[in-house]
Amino acid sequence: MRRLLVLLLLVFTAACAPVPTSAPDFTVGSAGAPKPADAGEVTAPPSSAAAAPACDATASLRPESPQPQPGAMPSGTTMATIAARGRLIAGVDQNTYLMGFRNPESGAIEGFDVDMAREVAKAIFGDPNRIQFKVLTSDERIPALEKGDVDIVVRTMTINCERAQKVAFSTVYYQAGQRVLASRGSGVTGPDSLGGRKVCATKGSSSLANVANLAAKPVVVSVANWTDCLVMLQQGQVDAVSTDDTILAGLAAQDPYTEMVGPQFTQEPYGMAMPKANEDFVRFVNGVLERLRTDGTWTAIHQRWLGGLDRDATPPVAKYRD
Ligand code: GLU
Repeated sequence: MRRLLVLLLLVFTAACAPVPTSAPDFTVGSAGAPKPADAGEVTAPPSSAAAAPACDATASLRPESPQPQPGAMPSGTTMATIAARGRLIAGVDQNTYLMGFRNPESGAIEGFDVDMAREVAKAIFGDPNRIQFKVLTSDERIPALEKGDVDIVVRTMTINCERAQKVAFSTVYYQAGQRVLASRGSGVTGPDSLGGRKVCATKGSSSLANVANLAAKPVVVSVANWTDCLVMLQQGQVDAVSTDDTILAGLAAQDPYTEMVGPQFTQEPYGMAMPKANEDFVRFVNGVLERLRTDGTWTAIHQRWLGGLDRDATPPVAKYRD
């Protein structure tokens, strides 16, 4: 009771404290527009994928015949280790609407890549929910595989020779291509119109290298996540975003004042990436992809997430190097 009285007295005295008559002595400057963490102009463009020695990166390892059946992974294999753990650990995105994104209503991570990753879990366990997702930025994908933090990365990842030196890729499970996204009526018409303009891409993406190497010479701004690029475009901090049409379709769906412009100026074949040493797992995943291509699952997942894209809706043909 006594404490309460003291508290009341303190509140009362504070309320009666004299109000300063003159304004405090500081000037209000204009606030700089907030930028996403780590946003910065790229001064030294990363080497393009073409800098790596030429290779046939989209040719992967042929599946075993017969393919191991769910719940019966042969002992001593990478799949048996995953089965013993009780869950597949998959690196995905949570920022890319349609491909890998967090559904704000359910809190679940969903999308084309997420459904694809679930099919791998289903092939090991007979249950697509035996999966743990680890959220990765573009730049975190290869280090996560090299450190063994994830079994597999299914995250809009382009197969190229530079990356194939560090990780192993499945066969192509989706064929995307790089385009440009701009605000409607901005005058940006495609890759050729980007000279001197600011263009956003994520650090560690092949999109950043592709745009930095455009003949038009844009000013490239790098960020961590694709949604950071959308916010920078909305705030007028960049003139365009450039990456795969799949990712841009998701950004455009979130902001009707933006549109994709110009042609596809690259080919971006997506592969699931795994640690280089796990060749048995690469063959197994390719066996899963074979099934998805032929039993209608790929088409159903494509229709669910990417059916709105003006695009050939047939799965890419697998290429093997045995
Ligand atoms: N496909 C490109 C890449 O693998 C861009 C996708 C991304 O960074 O999310 O780098």
